[in-house]
Amino acid sequence: MQERKRLLICGGGHASLPAIKMGKHWQKHGLEVLLVSAHPYLYYSGAVPQYLGGFFDEDEARIDLKKLCHDYGTSFICASVKEVDGEAQTVVISTGKQLHWDYLFINTGVRSRNSDYDHAHYFPVKPMQRLVQLFGKLESAATAGLKILILGGGAAGCEIALNLSVSNHKNIRSVTLFEADDRILSSFPERLSAVVRRALAENRVSISCKRKIAGDEISQLMSDYDIVIDASGNMPETERIKHGLTTDESGRIRVHQTLQSADYPNIFAAGDCALVGESGYMPVGVHAVKQGALFRDVMDAILRGSALPAYKPWPATPLILSQGQSRGFFVSGKLVFSGRWCIILKYMLDMNWLEKYTLPRSERRSWFRLIYDGFTRTKKAKPPQS
Ligand SMILES: Cc1cc2nc3c(=O)[nH]c(=O)nc-3n(C[C@H](O)[C@H](O)[C@H](O)COP(=O)(O)OP(=O)(O)OC[C@H]3O[C@@H](n4cnc5c(N)ncnc54)[C@H](O)[C@@H]3O)c2cc1C
Repeated sequence: MQERKRLLICGGGHASLPAIKMGKHWQKHGLEVLLVSAHPYLYYSGAVPQYLGGFFDEDEARIDLKKLCHDYGTSFICASVKEVDGEAQTVVISTGKQLHWDYLFINTGVRSRNSDYDHAHYFPVKPMQRLVQLFGKLESAATAGLKILILGGGAAGCEIALNLSVSNHKNIRSVTLFEADDRILSSFPERLSAVVRRALAENRVSISCKRKIAGDEISQLMSDYDIVIDASGNMPETERIKHGLTTDESGRIRVHQTLQSADYPNIFAAGDCALVGESGYMPVGVHAVKQGALFRDVMDAILRGSALPAYKPWPATPLILSQGQSRGFFVSGKLVFSGRWCIILKYMLDMNWLEKYTLPRSERRSWFRLIYDGFTRTKKAKPPQS
């Protein structure tokens, strides 16, 4: 009889979802799939800024990992991985239990650099489980007249500012954005910075550039503002795991184009906690999603005994920033567009992707239906405040 093997997925991130869905299929090939993830839900970062603005329900912005595993024959343990031993092929999880694996896929994402800072009104953007608690604060009647500060004018900070600026939260008095560089969205073309800056200014968000905040200054800011949202920088979650694998200088696990680690061919990593090849791509969800599909194909090839496929990154990273339901900002390489059609496109792409992991095939919407729903939702959008 064929010996049963185990694929252990460490972290239920965007990149792990295609493999989770292979549970039943791979069982037929003698491979058990086990997910160990720190939280029962994965928040979809593409939809969280709109959720914070009140434009999506919470269930439209998250994936129930436990249910997904159950539906697709993958086992699930809700715990954090603390140690990885590549020689013994084991992990130790937060309950103290040791688990054996034959293949290990690491997909833990990142966390905000200052996420250890503990304050009821401080919200690092990662982990997202903490960021989404902000919604309750914004809705609570006990917190009227809120002065909000967002640290970091990159894509995450700007998208949150864009959504809060047009939200219906009555408690928000002001939104301020601090950016360390001399312009917001400094990794993107100047045209994107200009249109987003204008959209923020139209909605009374004040932007202060060349404001670099050190970790120890956050407590001072907490006394000047009611809420601080920290989008100023992340570190790989794997920095908190004892693993001994080769990393780059920021702590991302180095993997080959086949997603195999530089140290062990049966350890794989993908998403924000990994660096695939030598390419200097931006660590965002679109790459994690592409790498997730590749990992599924790599495992399939291993089970079939065929050649492993290799990763080909997107030539340019496509992103759409949302501003509520009224407007989107599309950027890919030097191309920049904005307008209502961008937010309709974002809605269609996001929902099509999410429904693959939240709904049975028979209940998923067709592209035609998504276009229709995208138009209907954006029609209801309120014009920006003047
Ligand atoms: C506000 C915001 C908006 C964004 N919008 C976009 C966008 O529109 N488009 C885009 O491309 N990118 C976007 N991003 C970036 C995107 O969130 C990340 O690139 C993406 O989440 C990376 O996915 P991942 O697969 O690496 O892991 P993640 O999706 O980050 O998931 C990691 C998982 O691992 C779990 N975990 C962590 N540590 C452990 C551990 N020790 N043990 C077990 N489990 C663990 C976590 O609970 C989580 O479920 C945005 C980011 C932010 C902050």
